[in-house]
Amino acid sequence: MSGLPKTLEKIIDSFSRLPGIGKKTAQRLGMYIMKMDNEFVSDFANALLEIENNIYSCSICNNFSDSETCSICSDPTRSSRMICIVENPSDIILFENTGFNGFFHVLGGLISPLDGVSPEDLSIKTLLDRINNIDEIILAIGTSIEGEATSLYLINLLKPFNIKISRLSQGLPVGGYLEYIDKATLEKSFLERVEIN
Ligand SMILES: [Zn+2]
Repeated sequence: MSGLPKTLEKIIDSFSRLPGIGKKTAQRLGMYIMKMDNEFVSDFANALLEIENNIYSCSICNNFSDSETCSICSDPTRSSRMICIVENPSDIILFENTGFNGFFHVLGGLISPLDGVSPEDLSIKTLLDRINNIDEIILAIGTSIEGEATSLYLINLLKPFNIKISRLSQGLPVGGYLEYIDKATLEKSFLERVEIN
C-alpha cells in the first residue's frame, strides 16, 4: 500500500516502466503531472495518443514519420549523395548532431542468428532500391557481435555496386552499443570514418 490514489499509482507505474526511470523518479514525475494545469496535462495525454495513432515508418528510409516520408527524406536542402546506415531511428539523432547532411537508412535491427534475426528481417531490400546515384554509404553501426556480423554482410552485399563504403573509425569500445558511447567520441568516429577497400 502506497497510500496514493489508484489513478496516481497507475501513472507512476507507467513512468517507472520507461528506460532509465527508477521508482523515485517515477513518483516525482507523477506528482509533477498532478500539479500541472489542465492544458499541460491534456496536451501531454494527446501527444502520447498521437504517437500511438500517427507515427509510421518512412516509406523510403524506415525512420519514424508522421507522413508517408519522414522530414529528412523530404528535406530539399539535403543534396548530399550519401546514405548513412543505422540500426534504429533513435541513432539518426546521434549522427544528425555531427552536421551530416546526407540521408539515412534504418535497418530496424541487426543480424543475430541466436535471436533468429536474419538479413531478410531487416530493411535491406529497400536499401538496395536506393543506391542509384549514391557516392558513399556509411555504416554507422556499433561494434557488438551482431553489429559486426551486419556490417560484414552489408559490405559483401554492397561491394559489387562500386560505391565508396565507409565505417566508423576505430576508437569505439569493442562490443559497444552506440547509445552508450559519449557524444564527442561518436562524433569523432563519424567524422574520421574509414573507407573500406
Ligand atoms: Zn525517411
